[in-house]
Amino acid sequence: MRINYIESQRSPLAIVARHAENASALGHAEYFAELIDEWAPEGHADERLYRLGSSVIDAFADGAATERLARYFEFWLLRLQGVYPRLSACPECGGAFDGGAMMPAREPLYVCLRCAVGGGTAISLDALRFLRSAAGASPESLNGIPLEAGPGQELETAHRRLIQLHLEKELKSARVLRQMR
Ligand SMILES: [Zn+2]
Repeated sequence: MRINYIESQRSPLAIVARHAENASALGHAEYFAELIDEWAPEGHADERLYRLGSSVIDAFADGAATERLARYFEFWLLRLQGVYPRLSACPECGGAFDGGAMMPAREPLYVCLRCAVGGGTAISLDALRFLRSAAGASPESLNGIPLEAGPGQELETAHRRLIQLHLEKELKSARVLRQMR
C-alpha cells in the first residue's frame, strides 16, 4: 500500500500553545511521539498501540496534566507489551503490597517490603493506588485520579528503568525532559 497524501487534524504545536508550561508540554509531545515510534515494530501493525497513542494525544490536547499523562502512557505501553510488573501481589511471597513496594536494583518487578532487601526504587502506596486506578481509566478521566509529585517521581524512575531495559537504551526525549527539570 502506498500513502500519497496526509492531512494533519491536530498539531502538537497547537496543543503546546494551550498549555501553561509550554516548554514542558513541547518536551512531552516529543516524548509521546518517540515512545510510539520506538515501540511500533516495523511491519507489524499494533492497533492497540495506535489507539492508546491517539487517545493520549487527545487528552493532552484537552489539557490533561502532562506528568500524570506521561506516567499513564508508560504504564499502558508496558502493559500492552505484557512486560509491566505484577501489581496484584508480591511475586516472591504472594503477599499483599501493604505499606508499598520496591523495585529491586537489578530486577524489573515489584516486591513487597518484607521481601525487599538491598534497596532499589521505592514505590509508595499512593503510587500503587494511581497505577491500579489507571488500569481501569481512560486518559480523559486522568484529572480525577490524584498523583502527587513524590509518587509521580517514583513511577517516573521505575518506568524509566523498565523502558531502558526493554528498549536497551534511554529515549533522547526522556533525557531532555529530565535535564529541563
Ligand atoms: Zn514478598
